[in-house]
Formats: sequence, structure tokens, C-alpha cells
Amino acid sequence: MPINEIVFDYVPDFDKIVESENDMELKSSYVVENLRGDVVQTHVNWKWAKDSPINVSVLNTHLINDEQMDSLKDAILSMDEITLDDFSLHKGPKGSTSVYNSGWQGAVTQIGDNTLYVPPSTFNIFESDIAEGSIVILLESGSHPDGYTGYTKNTVDNNEILKSYVTIYDVDSLSASQLNTIIMHEFGHVLGLAHSTDPEDLMYPVIKTDYPYISECNVDALEALYNGNTRTTVVCEK
Ligand SMILES: [Zn+2]
Repeated sequence: MPINEIVFDYVPDFDKIVESENDMELKSSYVVENLRGDVVQTHVNWKWAKDSPINVSVLNTHLINDEQMDSLKDAILSMDEITLDDFSLHKGPKGSTSVYNSGWQGAVTQIGDNTLYVPPSTFNIFESDIAEGSIVILLESGSHPDGYTGYTKNTVDNNEILKSYVTIYDVDSLSASQLNTIIMHEFGHVLGLAHSTDPEDLMYPVIKTDYPYISECNVDALEALYNGNTRTTVVCEK
């Protein structure tokens, strides 16, 4: 059975999302910085207050339509679970299945209340003209000089994430499902996850959009991260 690892270390490489229908590639990147702007390589998470909502401001929403905005929100807020066949994902024999989440609020709820540190679990998403709230999503119509579509920067102090900035470039050229996928990937970084070594995983640097959902392995990695796990990887059984 293939081994799936979530690597928590900062990995300074490129993310790509491959859209199989039209071969469109969406590249993204992320960085974790301390307050001075130095790049850090460590295990960082939010140390959030229990039951406290986290504010997520979305800037330049005039660049996207209602369908895109709904798909952006879904990637964060959805509580839906999706059962997929392991065989088609090369994770198990025919007939075995795994449960996936289609939004991070649902995924965070999965890990329960007993972790050492508290992840944000209620996301208050609102449109804004200024970068307010602990999480900022900046929508841009222009291109990044290096061709990124998504970019996440976490500002940290003492291994605690204080603020997250997600920028989506060329947003007006993204389909609703592409925007959903890239927001779902970037929010994995927002919550503190790095990349998976499993090519089928949402957090793999090259994302195929066939199954862009949050896996049980992603949830396990999130739980380990918020338990202050000092191991660099989580090895999943499938
Ligand atoms: Zn990434």
C-alpha cells in the first residue's frame, strides 16, 4: 500500500495544480516568516482561543462572480463529507473506501476538542476593502512575475502563526472549481500544513483536480500538528 507522508517542514518549492481538461497549470508557493521577515523552518500552528471565530477578509471580490465566491467559501466552510473509492485513488483494494472533507471547517471539526493547541474552527468570511482579520485573501487580476496563481505567507512568532496572507493571481481567469481547489490547498498552508509526498493528495505540490478534497491523512497531520508533534512527518496507512 502506498505510503502517504505529510511533511511539516518548510519546503521552498513550487506548487502546481494541473487541470486535466485543458492542461492549464496553476502554480502556487508559500513561505513562513517570523516578525522580522526571516524565513523559518519549523513547526508552526495557530494557538487559537477555543470557540472563538477567526476573521477572514476577502479583498477585490468585484473580480469574481457569485459562483466563484461560493466556491471560495465552500473550500473553507463546507462541512460536507465525501466517500471515495480507494481503488480509483490507488490507495486500496476494490470495495474499500475513504472519507474526505470538502472544506476545512469540517476537517478541523474532525480532530475534536482534545488537541494540545486549538486550531481556528469557525471561519467568519467577509468582503473588505482593507486587509483586516487574522486571515487575508487578496484576489488579484494581474499575474505574478513568476507565474504563481496562489501564494500563502504565514507570519509567525515563537512557533505560533499570527497572521496568514493568501494571494490568488489571475483570479478572473479561474473557473469556480479551480478557485475552490487552490483555496483548499492554500488553506492547508494557512492552518500550518506543508506538502504531502503523495501525488494524489490535496497537499502535494502538483495537484490534479480530479479529487481535490481533504484526506483522512490531511486530518491526521492537522491533529498531529495541533498536538505539538515534533516529528517532521506523519505517515498514513493509506
Ligand atoms: Zn503548496
